[in-house]
Amino acid sequence: MSDTEALVASLRATFRSGRTKPLAWRRAQLTALRALFTDNREAIADALHADLRKPRPEAYGAEVDLPVREIDHTLAHLEEWLAPEPLGAHALAGLPEGTTAGTHYEPLGTVLVIAPWNYPVQLSLVPVAGALASGNTVLLKPSELAPATSALMARLVPEYLDRDAVAVVEGGVPETTELLAQRFDHIFYTGNGTVGRIVMRAAAEHLTPVTLELGGKSPVFVDRDADIDTVATRLAESKFRNAGQTCVAPDYVLTDPATAQRLAAALAEATERMFGSDPQTSAAYGRLVNQRHFDRVAALLDSGTLAFGGTTDRDDVYIAPTVLTGVKAEDPVMQEEIFGPVLPIVEVADLDEAIAFINDRDKPLALYGFTGNATTRARLVAETSSGGIGFGLPMAHLRVPDLPFGGVGESGLGSYHGPHSIATFSHRRARLDVPLS
Ligand code: NAD
Repeated sequence: MSDTEALVASLRATFRSGRTKPLAWRRAQLTALRALFTDNREAIADALHADLRKPRPEAYGAEVDLPVREIDHTLAHLEEWLAPEPLGAHALAGLPEGTTAGTHYEPLGTVLVIAPWNYPVQLSLVPVAGALASGNTVLLKPSELAPATSALMARLVPEYLDRDAVAVVEGGVPETTELLAQRFDHIFYTGNGTVGRIVMRAAAEHLTPVTLELGGKSPVFVDRDADIDTVATRLAESKFRNAGQTCVAPDYVLTDPATAQRLAAALAEATERMFGSDPQTSAAYGRLVNQRHFDRVAALLDSGTLAFGGTTDRDDVYIAPTVLTGVKAEDPVMQEEIFGPVLPIVEVADLDEAIAFINDRDKPLALYGFTGNATTRARLVAETSSGGIGFGLPMAHLRVPDLPFGGVGESGLGSYHGPHSIATFSHRRARLDVPLS
């Protein structure tokens, strides 16, 4: 038996023992995971700085405070979410008197979580929290592209969590390939669609259900009536955070030609307010994760007209916050998810053209709108599809734990956060009780 097989077998044995099922065990693990975050706030921020030059406020907000809020919300509601749901007597017509029926959640067993590098703590440990809250044992495979964070989690997880029930395996493609050959009861993958397909194929061998949290080009529609300074401030904050390497970051803007010019100017001002005149010297601005991603994003700059930014420094994996105007659908920057600090503005005549542009492409992970017009909002909701849709403040929907977070079509399969994590990491079992006499 290989080490990997032995590890998965030991996690299965722990699950079989029944000890992960009681509410008390689940709550104890969540409480311990909460302590992992609060005790190690600085160490987490240090690791994220080493891997991504992640500014400390971003590290605290997205990689400590958000997971802690998610855990607190789960601790507050777990019992209620797990409560069996009885069917009303009207649904049991034709069955003997006294019959009852309903559904309840049961844990799936042993879950594999495969995480990416861009929010390497949040996107590892929030799924782990959901799997533990649901009563499973878990194997976490963090991203090798964020090595300091991966090593930190490999050290801290066994210090805080039940070692027989939670394991961390570090590594890249060979290690993940070996893990994927094992039988799990659920695989939760966050990353790109190419690897998502590899994961789904491997899962099919064992009929293992998967959640795929993928990406895509998330559009932003800006209406001519929107207050342009507010739009620019909120767009710059969401696009340039983590140097654009956020799965739900605005990917491109669709707006009319006159608004495009005003918006580009307002974005330049908003960006300077955030990072000063030279973002490379700003502690508030991050870096690309590595030179491969630097090269990929730098090659997209040759599209449309440069409104501002555009400077690069390969040795420092630095790309300035950049806005491009007059971008066409055929330009390189519109062919793939940007996943970097480059914001193209594509001109459309009106809402009809914007909706057609969106629907001509894969369903995105998020779609954003800035408009005061309720009819425009209603049309965007009714006539497009995306994992989530947010008006007025990009990326904020993922901070609401009762909203399901996930994609549709090319942007993913399944969802999590709050009660949706329980649904993802559990089986909803049907139960019928017919009296014997
Ligand atoms: P990544 O390269 O870190 O890959 C993710 C995981 O897949 C890693 O653990 C890696 O080891 C593993 N992996 C890579 N190649 C593999 C292979 N050939 N076989 C098996 N496993 C393999 O991350 P990434 O894909 O570069 O992340 C960026 C993408 O993730 C973007 O498309 C982004 O939109 C998406 N994303 C989505 C979400 C979400 O919540 N929906 C969050 C973050 C990122």
